[in-house]
Amino acid sequence: MSVTTPAERPAPMLEVDDVSHRYGALQALERVGFSLAPGGFHALLGPNGAGKSTLIALITGLLRCRSGDIRIAGHSLSRHARQARRRLGVVFQQPTLDLDLSVRQNLLYHASLHGLGRRQARERSDRELARQHLTARADDKVRRLNGGHRRRLEIARALLHDPALLILDEASVGLDTASRQALNEHVRTLCRERGVTVLWTTHLLDEIAPEDPVVVLCGGRVIADSRAQALCHHTGTRTLQEAFGRLTADHSLAEGPP
Ligand code: ADP
Repeated sequence: MSVTTPAERPAPMLEVDDVSHRYGALQALERVGFSLAPGGFHALLGPNGAGKSTLIALITGLLRCRSGDIRIAGHSLSRHARQARRRLGVVFQQPTLDLDLSVRQNLLYHASLHGLGRRQARERSDRELARQHLTARADDKVRRLNGGHRRRLEIARALLHDPALLILDEASVGLDTASRQALNEHVRTLCRERGVTVLWTTHLLDEIAPEDPVVVLCGGRVIADSRAQALCHHTGTRTLQEAFGRLTADHSLAEGPP
């Protein structure tokens, strides 16, 4: 049997360390802590108002982290923001593509924002289009793409600078069931073939597989952090839906009425 000592264990790709955040008097996150091992698909779950968007805004730098620390590939966002952000790719909940530019133009524009030269920008754009199976659509206006293909283009854009951590914030919202499933499978393939670490936030539990590591947020706190199947085991339930219902109900009872 091989034994892994702490020194040999790979450093986490994302560390959220004792993070709290307030909007005025409202405590949106309270002492949130978890880490993601490098590689693989991880899910961040939580009912509406749990604090998922606030946490993503802190990790992506849209909000400033004033209490606690966030590290990406070992780089602290508060102390080494540039190094940390270089390792991060994000697909935001709200699409931000220019519909009147072509698929390739959208990528080239973004590559220039990352400071890539023309040749490198072209090479990387073509590489990502091929990986996302969008090469044949390169010269089409984005307006002509369906919702699933637009999401894939956003993933291609987020991966142009070769980040180690890819965050997808409710990326499947607005897609029909078949496109949702296809996107989810596509992202899982990316994890396997490219070794990128993915954090997938959702409130849709059918997007989670039993072996996925999941962090469950509720009322601004982490109420579970384990494999999805272990949540069922711990709560004595048969499905993730039931486990999630039990966990969030228990948390609400413990918190009492507002
Ligand atoms: P989720 O993404 O899980 O739905 P949010 O992070 O959006 O949760 O919200 C967490 C809590 O913070 C909620 O009570 C929400 O009403 C509140 N909140 C979110 N954004 C703001 C804001 N800009 N100003 C004040 N309160 C906010």
